[in-house]
Amino acid sequence: MRSVFDAVIVGAGPAGSSAAILLARAGWSVALVEKQRFPRRKVCGECIAASNLSLLDALGIGPVFDSVAGPELRKVALMRGDQTIIADMPESPDGKYRWGRALGRETLDTLLIERARDVGVLVLQPCSVQAIEGEVGNWHCAVRTAFSKTTLTLHTPVAIDAHGSWESLPSSRLHSRESRSVSNLFAFKANFRDTSLDEGLLPILSFDGGYGGMAVADGGVTTLAGCIRSDYLGAYRRASPRLRAGEVVEALLNNQCKGVRMALQGASREGAWLAVGPLDPGIRLGAVDDPFRIGNAAGEAHPIIGEGMSMALQSSWLLCGHLLGTDQPQSIASKVWQREVGRRYAVEWRHHFESRLRLAAAFAHLAMRPVFSAPLVALARAWPAILTVGAKWGGKVRCAADLALIDRLTPIAGGAAESGDVPFRDARPSGLTWH
Ligand SMILES: Cc1cc2nc3c(=O)[nH]c(=O)nc-3n(C[C@H](O)[C@H](O)[C@H](O)COP(=O)(O)OP(=O)(O)OC[C@H]3O[C@@H](n4cnc5c(N)ncnc54)[C@H](O)[C@@H]3O)c2cc1C
Repeated sequence: MRSVFDAVIVGAGPAGSSAAILLARAGWSVALVEKQRFPRRKVCGECIAASNLSLLDALGIGPVFDSVAGPELRKVALMRGDQTIIADMPESPDGKYRWGRALGRETLDTLLIERARDVGVLVLQPCSVQAIEGEVGNWHCAVRTAFSKTTLTLHTPVAIDAHGSWESLPSSRLHSRESRSVSNLFAFKANFRDTSLDEGLLPILSFDGGYGGMAVADGGVTTLAGCIRSDYLGAYRRASPRLRAGEVVEALLNNQCKGVRMALQGASREGAWLAVGPLDPGIRLGAVDDPFRIGNAAGEAHPIIGEGMSMALQSSWLLCGHLLGTDQPQSIASKVWQREVGRRYAVEWRHHFESRLRLAAAFAHLAMRPVFSAPLVALARAWPAILTVGAKWGGKVRCAADLALIDRLTPIAGGAAESGDVPFRDARPSGLTWH
């Protein structure tokens, strides 16, 4: 009967799954709890910057990513009204991967969680962590299954919160979304077949009350995603009461952005529009006595720069670098050590990502407001290279993670779980006591 793990990780997005893989490869026993069934679609632009592709290689999903992801994104554009300004995407100094690519989250997240299973992580899915109680070095995580509503308590010295930004844990220790001042931005995403969008082009869309982006991803499917202010959305919906919210956004983009209109001409939407919100950009690293936080749980940039997955993967790498560092004490339950890890991680996180958050906020507000976006477009027309510079500043070719970490980890020989745990999907795992 196993309910004690070296680490329990909440959420299997890019942050949670990558941390689970790294820790398991270092020989830790890891439980990864994910509330949704995979594959699942997700509101996201799905573009992964070049700076992350070596990390995906090191995690063990590089070859599959290579074979399925969309074309290399070699150009960036700004689209507003009738204007489309195109510039070069900055080239990553990483010799192997110089440009980013897009891959549907239903595929990327599934590849990562499957890889976690392969390296011995116990994946509890679909199960949700209801609360994390206890203290640094001695955490108790209440987990509930989606299928039978039974609960289980997992015990661990290291709790890692990678639950993303849309749901807060029903735990009093953690920041409740309601108590924070959230923006009034709602996020949307849809996929389209047979668009005429140039393969390899990543346009940023600017329109009154919002911003977005689109790119050709795996299987030639175009992902269109963006954010819109709730007051604008409300007004547009009142003007078109028979349309659903996503359809209003589609009509608005067609209407306000010639580049989108041209790209979607003759295209057909695949599946429904997805929506989430409100968005909550900002830093929420938490206190030293909280569970560790990675990915969007630690902080979120306005998605106009499309760097959320970079921050998820790279923050996970930063934290694991400290957890697996050479100064590991005899017991990983050591409070003094964990607090030091938390402090060092927070300093590094801010060093690498804080400026990205500020840049993204400034760019988002310029793009959404007609009074600012006109000079922005004029500047980009006069000097298109500013788009290249902006993408560089946004983090597209800068990796915060130290790849050398992977060399210190145990090579994985086969594909099977090695820890003796029983991986399971949509089923009650044996060896655990459920109540
Ligand atoms: C409109 C839009 C466009 C974007 N475009 C891009 C882009 O092009 N490129 C890019 O890099 N980023 C983009 N992003 C950002 C990116 O989607 C996120 O930053 C990224 O998904 C964060 O990863 P994560 O692992 O931290 O969290 P998530 O991917 O959100 O994963 C969190 C997981 O935790 C699970 N979970 C939540 N609560 C619990 C619980 N209590 N118990 C168990 N499981 C739980 C969830 O089901 C989820 O699977 C975009 C975002 C938006 C809104």
